[in-house]
Formats: sequence, C-alpha cells, structure tokens
Amino acid sequence: MRYARRLKEATDRLIREYFPNLSYSDFPAIRSVAEGMHPFGVLVAVILSQNTSDRNSGVALENLRRSLCRDLKPECFAGISEDRLAELIRPSGMQRLKARTILRALREFGGGDALMTEDPEVLRRKLLSVPGIGPKTADVFLLFVRRYPTFPMDTHIRRFLYRFGVGDKGEGYESLRGKVMAALPRDPRYLAAAHLSMIAHGRSVCRSRRPYCKTCVVRDLCAKRGVAGAGTI
Ligand code: SF4
Repeated sequence: MRYARRLKEATDRLIREYFPNLSYSDFPAIRSVAEGMHPFGVLVAVILSQNTSDRNSGVALENLRRSLCRDLKPECFAGISEDRLAELIRPSGMQRLKARTILRALREFGGGDALMTEDPEVLRRKLLSVPGIGPKTADVFLLFVRRYPTFPMDTHIRRFLYRFGVGDKGEGYESLRGKVMAALPRDPRYLAAAHLSMIAHGRSVCRSRRPYCKTCVVRDLCAKRGVAGAGTI
C-alpha cells in the first residue's frame, strides 16, 4: 500500500482509538481556545508550551491569567517589563527567551486584529518572521484558532511518522508537513483530531523507548523503522 493510503488508514484508526477519550485539560494551549481566550492569549499559551510539559506550561499560563487578566488580550500586557514577564512564566522554562518572544509578538500583533483577519498563509509567514515562533507554534495557532487546514508536528508525531515509514530521519518540517497534508483530508476538524490523536499515541504507545508494538492498533500498517526487535513490547 502506498504511504498516503497507509497513513490515512492509520490516522483514521488512531482517531477512533484516542480522540473520543481525549480531554482538553491535557492540552493547555488548546483548552485556552475552548475557554474563549483572546487569540493573542492563545498564541501566548502556545509559546509557553514550547519545550516543556503541559503541566508546567499550564502553571505558567495560569500565573499570567491570575496576575494580568483572564483572557490575556494584548492590552493586558501593556507596559510589562521583560523581567516581570519572565518571572511570571518561569514554570514553563526558558522564561527569558519566551518572554522576549511574547513581547515581539505583542509588537507585531498587539494592535488591530491581524491574528484573526489576515490571510492564513500571509499570517503564517508573519508568525514565522517573529524570532522564537517556529512552524509548530504557527501551525497550532492556525489550525486551532483560525481553523485553517495545516498539520502541526511535535516530537511525538515526528517519531511516530518516522517509524511508520513517512519521511526520512532528520527530514525538514515543511517537507514532512507536505507529505502528511498530501495524505490526509484538508478538513481542519479532521486534522485537529489527527494531531491530538497522534500525540496521544506517541505518549502512550509509540513511546520513545520500548514502544508497545504488539498491541498497537496500526501495527499491521507500520514499517516499524528503527524499532523492530529492538526493545519493543
Ligand atoms: S507498530 Fe510500534 S513503531 Fe509502529 S506505530 Fe505502533 S508502536 Fe509505533
């Protein structure tokens, strides 16, 4: 079976397996969308989630909401210093870098409503032009806030895709995203479910060490690159 059909079939199965039982509380940045946070606040939540656990980014986000304002609209950040911001978001780690990124984003998107009205492809380029905002952050925002069909990939998803047989080791984000997008429907609801389900799969079954291949729901479709016979369960 060609990779596109295999990946579509596997993604359908992963969505059936995981999505009905997922809780937004497991994903603070996405929960902030469900709670009606201002789009700028959601962008801040996604920045806080970079390179840390959901628990730690959730604590940092709650610090900000308690100290500044609940919906984290841009006005709430008016006049805040980098030092103060870094202190509030310390639980998320890399607080100095993240504080700078948030303040840069505030300068770029704090006035007007470009985050919601800009053409999504133009907005993607503008987001990526902000130092500290990478493609995963931009794609999470576009998919979950703008409902734009794109596919954010974190380390769990990239590990699963490589083992499954999509993309090469060290393949660039954009190239891999193109391969996934070519295989899956351009439906933002489907892509959001696929994104969350693949993360859940990577966390619980296709783990970094000793993946549970013997009970995996896509084992018959998977190439198991780099894992066959090497410590699988
Ligand atoms: S069969 Fe193993 S390597 Fe393939 S997706 Fe499942 S857990 Fe991951």
